[in-house]
Amino acid sequence: MSMTLTDVSKLTEEEARATFERIRWPNGPICPHCGSATAAKLHGKAHRIGLYKCNGCEAQFTATINTILEDSHLPIRTWLMAFALLCSAKKSVSALQLQRQLGLRSYRTAWHMAHRIRHAMSQEPLAGLLGYAGGTVEVDETYVGGKPRQRHGQPKPKKGRGTKKVAVVALVERGGQARAHKVEHVDAKTLGKAIRENVDLHSTLMTDQFGSYAEIGSRFDGGHHTVNHGKGEYVRGDASTNEVESYFALLKRGIVGSFHHVSKNHLDRYCDEFSFRWNHRKTTDSERTIEAIKGAEGKRLSYCDPIGK
Ligand SMILES: [Zn+2]
Repeated sequence: MSMTLTDVSKLTEEEARATFERIRWPNGPICPHCGSATAAKLHGKAHRIGLYKCNGCEAQFTATINTILEDSHLPIRTWLMAFALLCSAKKSVSALQLQRQLGLRSYRTAWHMAHRIRHAMSQEPLAGLLGYAGGTVEVDETYVGGKPRQRHGQPKPKKGRGTKKVAVVALVERGGQARAHKVEHVDAKTLGKAIRENVDLHSTLMTDQFGSYAEIGSRFDGGHHTVNHGKGEYVRGDASTNEVESYFALLKRGIVGSFHHVSKNHLDRYCDEFSFRWNHRKTTDSERTIEAIKGAEGKRLSYCDPIGK
């Protein structure tokens, strides 16, 4: 199965549905209500396309139930193309670009679609700890977002509340997986919590010399190594934070290049998207797209969720 944008764009809606079913149910349909694998396809004009009936509990269902596609009026083919677009674009895709490339009627539709796909890319809450096999984990924090741009004929944007940059902490295992999320503070308590929740303390920690990392760093069995960025030091022996810096470089180029303004409320979803691409960077665009589609299951996002407050 090839899932590059070119391949997906050639599918009919019927083929797209069959493709989505194969990804979601590699061993045949599973009833989302009772878990039975004895469903049969309902044929005939009276039935919706793609409708199955469970032989166990007799419920009817389609492949999009209990996924981010549920309740969407868009064709499955359009969804697959959107997945392929977001999975192949290193610096991401803006909602405007998605709207144009997929011929969607409204910006709002494109925006919601992109956010649902980001949600599909998000990691399971109980995913294992980074560095559990005794590796090295680099941690750093950065600031993203920024001042709103001044528009022609409008007063200068205010400084202060609502214009502050937002801190993001990223945790990257060398040669492995990455995670990132926004943090309200960059104090020892907040950064310590982010590290405890994501990193195995048996591994080795690499950070810069920011004081907030000292306390948690002392708990690492593999030790805590630091580089002094203040002195322009980026590598000392084995100590470096090159990988986490590469991660931030991608995230920032994506945010500057693809999005006019990333709201603080949605920042974690953008981080999830960039972490997903990072974590699947050694696979092909097609394989990455299939992985993201697999993540669509069990992650519903209601229409108003992404707006946040
Ligand atoms: Zn059932």
